[in-house]
Amino acid sequence: GKRAFVAGVADDNGFGWAIAKSLAAAGAEILVGTWVPALNIFETSLQRGKFDESRKLPDGSLMEITKIYPLDAVFDNPDDVPEDIKTNRRYAGSTNWTVREVAESVKRDFGSIDILVHSLANGPEVSKPLLETSRNGYLAALSASRGSSISLTHVASERIIPGYGGGMNSAKAALESDTRVLAFEAGRKHKIRVNTISAGPLRSRAAKAIGF
Ligand code: NAD
Repeated sequence: GKRAFVAGVADDNGFGWAIAKSLAAAGAEILVGTWVPALNIFETSLQRGKFDESRKLPDGSLMEITKIYPLDAVFDNPDDVPEDIKTNRRYAGSTNWTVREVAESVKRDFGSIDILVHSLANGPEVSKPLLETSRNGYLAALSASRGSSISLTHVASERIIPGYGGGMNSAKAALESDTRVLAFEAGRKHKIRVNTISAGPLRSRAAKAIGF
């Protein structure tokens, strides 16, 4: 069977969860990357059986998540992490959650993966129009919302979608452009396919934040 790492699962409402389920139903082993501040509540809810109904696969069995890795995709290395995050209470209980450290942990634990899904986004100022978006908010949206292998994009990259603010339109345009370049580079170099899906509307936690 294939092994998949799905980054951006912290509840059972988003695309990451749904994609993980489809992959599990097709026989894949599932690893997930969960945003550090959301880790505790996700693990607790999972243990308490809160997601058991939505863990059901078509054959009646429950989706198993082999391992949950804490992840903050905005940071590549521990050196990149600013002091206020390092000392933040919500990050204190976890270690090795920068992108490079998670990749190393997965490699140590499992050797390799076959499928990488990037299903995360964070536009701190997404509810503000671009006109009123700060430089920091804009850069934060770009930093968290790009990705590789299979990611999720949004039509706001090419058309005006009122309400999709904070630079998230640019983040998705960058994601689509980077998908093309990475498909070329990683395809030639490593025979890795890189794609992005322009998803339709889903009332996930992220989408509720902007009133979609
Ligand atoms: P979601 O809230 O279920 O998923 C987003 C996840 O990103 C959350 O689990 C959150 O904890 C995580 N996250 C945020 N910042 C992070 C960080 N720095 N490091 C690691 N994880 C982080 O919402 P969703 O709508 O399912 O979003 C998944 C993807 O789908 C996103 O790329 C989103 O832009 C895209 N998308 C969503 C819609 C929609 O209508 N919901 C439409 C098109 C595309």
